[in-house]
Amino acid sequence: MGPFETKETCEQWQAEYELPFDVIPDEDGTIFKKLSNGWVPYTILVDPDGKVVLWESEFEEAGFAAAVEKLYQEPAEVVVKPESTIRAVPQAGRKFGANIVILGGGAGGLVAAYHLRRKLPKSHRIVIIDRSPDHLFQSSLLWHAVGQRRADQIRRPLSDLTQKGVEFINEEVVQIDTASRQVNTKSQAIDFDFLIVALGAQLKPEDVDGFDEMALNLYDLEGTAKIHAALDGFSGGSVGVLVTDMPFKCPAAPYEAALLVEAFLSKKGVRGRSEVHIYTPEHQPMPIAGPVMGEAISKVLKKRNINYHPLFPFEKMNPGDRTIIASGSEPEKVDLLLAVPPHRAPDVVRESGLVGSSGWMHVDPHSLATEHEGVYAIGDVNNIRLANGKNLPMAGVFAHYEAGVVAEKIAAEIEGESSKATFNGKGYCWLELGGGKAGFASGNFYAEPEPAVRLYPPLRPWHWGKVLFEKWWLRHWF
Ligand SMILES: Cc1cc2nc3c(=O)[nH]c(=O)nc-3n(C[C@H](O)[C@H](O)[C@H](O)COP(=O)(O)OP(=O)(O)OC[C@H]3O[C@@H](n4cnc5c(N)ncnc54)[C@H](O)[C@@H]3O)c2cc1C
Repeated sequence: MGPFETKETCEQWQAEYELPFDVIPDEDGTIFKKLSNGWVPYTILVDPDGKVVLWESEFEEAGFAAAVEKLYQEPAEVVVKPESTIRAVPQAGRKFGANIVILGGGAGGLVAAYHLRRKLPKSHRIVIIDRSPDHLFQSSLLWHAVGQRRADQIRRPLSDLTQKGVEFINEEVVQIDTASRQVNTKSQAIDFDFLIVALGAQLKPEDVDGFDEMALNLYDLEGTAKIHAALDGFSGGSVGVLVTDMPFKCPAAPYEAALLVEAFLSKKGVRGRSEVHIYTPEHQPMPIAGPVMGEAISKVLKKRNINYHPLFPFEKMNPGDRTIIASGSEPEKVDLLLAVPPHRAPDVVRESGLVGSSGWMHVDPHSLATEHEGVYAIGDVNNIRLANGKNLPMAGVFAHYEAGVVAEKIAAEIEGESSKATFNGKGYCWLELGGGKAGFASGNFYAEPEPAVRLYPPLRPWHWGKVLFEKWWLRHWF
């Protein structure tokens, strides 16, 4: 049982569910820290050989049932596909050669389209479909929240890509049919020879009762505009940054948000009358990057007098008395609440039957290929399990590199060549501290047995590195 249970509650569970085995508490959180990525994987299924066949953070009946069914099946014969079975494209009768359809014009989709266009002749059609007219550079939302960016400075119209030979369809994707190799929007059906699913993670504030009345969404443009307005009018009180659920994209973002808010309040002259809090189900900051990183960020928070509430498994918010409640703890009153909403795989991906037992898409971790021929998935929509049993974090840097690999693979296949491109799990991130300073970390998340991440101390040049990257990103791909 989780670290919030006691011997008594364990006994109650055992009696209530008539469990034939012992149920013991994990009172000091030892198992929690070993197994969790900030939350306990509630469902672990082990086969008769001791191999873990299912490991997920929630109980999803369909995924669990499928895993149990697999346990009773004879192992399937492994079919090794000979090189020569690679389809020859362009296919006969296709006026424009291959149809390459990219779902999502976010970090991954944008980069994939750029590389594909540079690699392939114009006879091959490259299409991005996105329901938003704009590409948003999401990292800059945090600067937007504290008034350091305007909305028009951090987004670009996706229609600009047409000048570069990439078609853009500004519509919502409502169905993905891998069997008939067709994608449907509300108004049209689009055939594909190759498909790249880059739809990211869907934010679900509506899954939290009271979110709209009490919280401001830290992860979208509308929310960060409201946060800036609220901070501008803030004259003192408590500000809370809340992580409502796991997983969430950019493990550093809630910490950066708290640090930027703290710097904003100091500059405004109301820091003395204010408290800044972070509430998260994680046991340390950025658990995937290891204890050294966690310790370093905790120290920075302490130095800036930011109250850190780890192991806060958020349960509900109560707009009436402005409290947030975690299971097993007292309500916390928050005057201004900035929240990271629950993340889920996009509805269309779930409804098209493309998610695995984790609730997210499953791909080969090096090629990003799905089990469907010619269909790849990149970025936040994927769940990639690392050697230590945790998941590759959702971050733009990975979507970016994965996109390069997939573009190279598709282009090579079209040209009838073979490609050695492989995603190696390397990535980096800045940690914005406010006041013109940032930290920097980089590493190999595919390293075994644990990701090898190096942390560089906070400096002004790292902040400028982040600013330059933003400028480069918004100019380079458009
Ligand atoms: C506040 C914040 C700070 C961040 N900071 C960093 C950072 O410093 N470093 C870093 O590496 N990462 C950072 N990230 C994370 C990074 O932005 C994401 O991991 C990255 O954008 C994921 O890329 P993606 O292509 O998978 O998805 P996204 O970039 O989210 O793109 C998905 C696209 O799909 C579209 N879409 C979704 N559903 C549909 C549909 N049904 N029909 C049509 N279109 C649809 C969306 O409109 C969107 O444009 C941050 C994120 C946030 C919110």
